[in-house]
Amino acid sequence: MTDLILVLDAGTTSTRAMAFARDGSIRAVSQCEITQHYPQPGWVEHDAQEIWEATLRCARACITAAGGAAQFAAIGITNQRETVVAWDRTSGEPLARAIVWQDRRTAEFCDSLRTAGHEPAVQHATGLLLDPYFSATKMRWLLDNSGEVAAAARTGVLAFGTVESWLVWKLTGATHVSDASNASRTLLLALDGPQFDPGLCDLFGVPLAALPQVVDCAGEFGTTLPGLFDAPLAIRGLAGDQQAATVGQGCNEPGEVKATYGTGAFVLANMGAVLPRSRHRLLGTVLTQLGGRRTYALEGSVFVAGSLVKWLRDSLGIIASASETAALAASVPDTGGVVLVPALSGLGAPHWRPDARAALTGMSFATTRAHLARAALEATANQTRDLMDAFAADGAPWAALRIDGGMSANDWLAQDLANILGIAVERPEMVETTALGAAMLAAVASGWFADLDEAAKSMRGPVVSFTQAMDGAVKNARLAAWREAVAKV
Ligand code: ADP
Repeated sequence: MTDLILVLDAGTTSTRAMAFARDGSIRAVSQCEITQHYPQPGWVEHDAQEIWEATLRCARACITAAGGAAQFAAIGITNQRETVVAWDRTSGEPLARAIVWQDRRTAEFCDSLRTAGHEPAVQHATGLLLDPYFSATKMRWLLDNSGEVAAAARTGVLAFGTVESWLVWKLTGATHVSDASNASRTLLLALDGPQFDPGLCDLFGVPLAALPQVVDCAGEFGTTLPGLFDAPLAIRGLAGDQQAATVGQGCNEPGEVKATYGTGAFVLANMGAVLPRSRHRLLGTVLTQLGGRRTYALEGSVFVAGSLVKWLRDSLGIIASASETAALAASVPDTGGVVLVPALSGLGAPHWRPDARAALTGMSFATTRAHLARAALEATANQTRDLMDAFAADGAPWAALRIDGGMSANDWLAQDLANILGIAVERPEMVETTALGAAMLAAVASGWFADLDEAAKSMRGPVVSFTQAMDGAVKNARLAAWREAVAKV
């Protein structure tokens, strides 16, 4: 019986393999850690060979636990976005360490392009900003700084790809594709262009010949090489992690929006077939491409969310566990005037100020760790409120918010979000939405469901709802204090 989908979720800190059934239940899971390399301040690298080997090991363990490859209809892949892998087409071996999305080494190159006036045209074409985050400047850095990458480019054997592209190559032998959701994070794909754009490749100095073919998010992307598993498996789903989570949250209609609260927070709103053009420094991105038709999303991210709670625990030592913040926050009626602006690594959307630094205002001798814990959770909700206002100003008002990620388990935060946003907040019982989205894409391509709507009905499961319960005057006073503190940083 082929009644399972194998999801390979290649994340930043770990890679996982999961077996999903038609009802969305998870039948087997295997997880392997990925080594983080920090060769210089601001640099983050991965060993692409390690990503591949860890993925293969996890996939094999998961397949064995679920009773063999014959149980599976297909593979769906989801991945950390923007990270760049360079490999040799003849040997299939990496040519350099992969440069991870968080890496800031190309900040100066981005600044020089901005100074030269390229940002408006790049943003119009790609939906993105000139930030080291995205792939193109990382590719250019490898060409300029790695002798192996430069030599491979000269002899025509260079292959570039994001992580899903690398994994498909290794799984199938030599298929060089990238799905449109991942491709739209490179700065090299125009939002309305079917393939990578020659003009953008020229601007960033990336050879078009090294790039993969852009494909749908659901379809036939090749079959695994004989010998990898106990039977070959078809690869049928591909999506970047945040887009996959949006699919996994069932945000299939324009206006539906999800927020993932992990280390940072990522908000994506389905914009339908409308090209997303932000006037408030939000990002426009491809949500999915199915049958050649694109659905777009508007995206905003907050750099610091769960990592603030981790900082309270590990650096300040004022809490023993992340989950303790819920009880601490509830133990006081308010923050006692304390406002925490968590710009520990700059401010994300809609401010987009990497140079801003954090501030803690309004403390007195009456301030306790409970007030600080509460201020930390409130900061996450306040930052989400700023995003909500920016989305509304860009023509994407939120009617409700679907939340997931490790930090969404905090009931106090979920209720505070409903209060400060003034809309319903929904949290699925099964919060592995990223992997679920990849499973849904592969399930649709396998003919299990007619479309993603049907897949969501079958696979998404029950949700818990939180509704607004805060006095309007209290809310307005809190937002005014927040805005004043943000203005200071
Ligand atoms: P990532 O995928 O970015 O590694 P996760 O989704 O695993 O992150 O979420 C982990 C983050 O969420 C950590 O930074 C942690 O501090 C925070 N977190 C986890 N549980 C809670 C909780 N109950 N309350 C507040 N924060 C939490």
